[in-house]
Amino acid sequence: MCCEENNIFIGLDYDDTFTRDPVGWAEFVKMMLARGHEVMIVTWRTPEEAVEVGHDMNYWKLPVPVYATSRKAKMKYMFEQGICIDVVIDDNPNSWTTSMQPQSAGLWN
Ligand SMILES: [Mg+2]
Repeated sequence: MCCEENNIFIGLDYDDTFTRDPVGWAEFVKMMLARGHEVMIVTWRTPEEAVEVGHDMNYWKLPVPVYATSRKAKMKYMFEQGICIDVVIDDNPNSWTTSMQPQSAGLWN
Protein backbone atom coordinates (compact mmCIF):
# COMPACT_ATOMS: atom_id res chain seq x y z
CA MET A 1 0.00 0.00 0.00
CA CYS A 2 1.18 3.43 -0.86
CA CYS A 3 3.21 5.47 1.63
CA GLU A 4 3.06 2.85 4.38
CA GLU A 5 6.55 1.41 4.22
CA ASN A 6 9.28 2.56 6.59
CA ASN A 7 11.57 3.64 3.81
CA ILE A 8 10.93 7.03 2.28
CA PHE A 9 10.27 7.38 -1.44
CA ILE A 10 11.82 10.68 -2.45
CA GLY A 11 11.06 12.38 -5.75
CA LEU A 12 13.91 14.73 -6.65
CA ASP A 13 13.57 17.22 -9.48
CA TYR A 14 16.46 17.71 -11.91
CA ASP A 15 16.33 21.12 -13.63
CA ASP A 16 17.01 23.98 -11.25
CA THR A 17 16.95 21.58 -8.30
CA PHE A 18 19.64 18.90 -8.70
CA THR A 19 21.45 21.09 -11.23
CA ARG A 20 21.79 23.98 -8.77
CA ASP A 21 24.14 22.03 -6.50
CA PRO A 22 25.01 18.60 -7.92
CA VAL A 23 27.76 18.07 -5.33
CA GLY A 24 25.36 18.71 -2.46
CA TRP A 25 22.52 16.66 -3.90
CA ALA A 26 24.86 13.79 -4.74
CA GLU A 27 25.90 13.64 -1.11
CA PHE A 28 22.28 13.82 -0.01
CA VAL A 29 21.21 11.06 -2.40
CA LYS A 30 24.07 8.76 -1.37
CA MET A 31 23.28 9.32 2.30
CA MET A 32 19.57 8.62 1.89
CA LEU A 33 20.22 5.51 -0.23
CA ALA A 34 22.65 4.26 2.43
CA ARG A 35 19.88 4.71 4.99
CA GLY A 36 17.61 2.45 2.96
CA HIS A 37 15.44 5.09 1.37
CA GLU A 38 14.47 5.26 -2.28
CA VAL A 39 15.47 8.29 -4.33
CA MET A 40 14.37 8.86 -7.89
CA ILE A 41 14.73 11.73 -10.29
CA VAL A 42 11.35 12.88 -11.58
CA THR A 43 11.48 15.43 -14.36
CA TRP A 44 8.97 17.15 -16.61
CA ARG A 45 11.33 16.41 -19.51
CA THR A 46 10.47 13.94 -22.26
CA PRO A 47 12.37 10.62 -22.29
CA GLU A 48 14.49 11.97 -25.16
CA GLU A 49 15.33 15.12 -23.22
CA ALA A 50 16.05 13.07 -20.12
CA VAL A 51 18.82 10.98 -21.69
CA GLU A 52 21.38 13.52 -20.51
CA VAL A 53 19.86 13.38 -17.04
CA GLY A 54 20.68 9.67 -16.89
CA HIS A 55 24.20 10.43 -18.07
CA ASP A 56 24.50 13.01 -15.30
CA MET A 57 23.41 10.45 -12.68
CA ASN A 58 26.07 8.08 -14.00
CA TYR A 59 28.64 10.86 -13.83
CA TRP A 60 27.81 11.42 -10.16
CA LYS A 61 27.68 7.63 -9.60
CA LEU A 62 24.11 7.79 -8.35
CA PRO A 63 22.18 4.54 -8.89
CA VAL A 64 18.80 6.23 -9.14
CA PRO A 65 16.09 5.80 -11.77
CA VAL A 66 15.04 8.75 -13.91
CA TYR A 67 11.34 9.22 -14.65
CA ALA A 68 10.43 11.60 -17.47
CA THR A 69 6.79 12.66 -17.37
CA SER A 70 6.75 14.60 -20.66
CA ARG A 71 5.27 17.70 -18.94
CA LYS A 72 2.57 15.69 -17.15
CA ALA A 73 1.80 16.20 -13.46
CA LYS A 74 4.48 14.26 -11.64
CA MET A 75 2.50 12.74 -8.75
CA LYS A 76 -0.20 11.27 -11.00
CA TYR A 77 2.44 10.05 -13.45
CA MET A 78 4.38 8.28 -10.70
CA PHE A 79 1.19 6.77 -9.28
CA GLU A 80 0.49 5.38 -12.76
CA GLN A 81 3.94 3.77 -12.61
CA GLY A 82 2.89 2.12 -9.33
CA ILE A 83 5.10 4.37 -7.23
CA CYS A 84 3.85 6.57 -4.42
CA ILE A 85 6.23 9.42 -3.66
CA ASP A 86 6.33 10.34 0.04
CA VAL A 87 8.58 13.40 -0.14
CA VAL A 88 9.01 15.86 -2.97
CA ILE A 89 12.07 18.04 -3.52
CA ASP A 90 11.43 20.46 -6.35
CA ASP A 91 11.97 24.11 -7.23
CA ASN A 92 8.49 24.00 -8.78
CA PRO A 93 6.22 22.06 -6.40
CA ASN A 94 3.22 22.77 -8.63
CA SER A 95 4.72 20.40 -11.21
CA TRP A 96 3.65 17.52 -8.97
CA THR A 97 -0.03 18.36 -9.19
CA THR A 98 -0.29 20.25 -12.46
CA SER A 99 0.73 19.41 -16.01
CA MET A 100 2.72 22.07 -17.86
CA GLN A 101 0.46 24.69 -19.36
CA PRO A 102 0.79 25.41 -23.11
CA GLN A 103 1.99 28.99 -22.57
CA SER A 104 5.00 27.76 -20.64
CA ALA A 105 5.81 24.82 -22.91
CA GLY A 106 9.46 24.79 -23.76
CA LEU A 107 10.56 25.59 -20.24
CA TRP A 108 12.01 22.82 -18.16
CA ASN A 109 11.00 22.65 -14.58
MG1 LIG B 1 12.83 22.16 -11.75
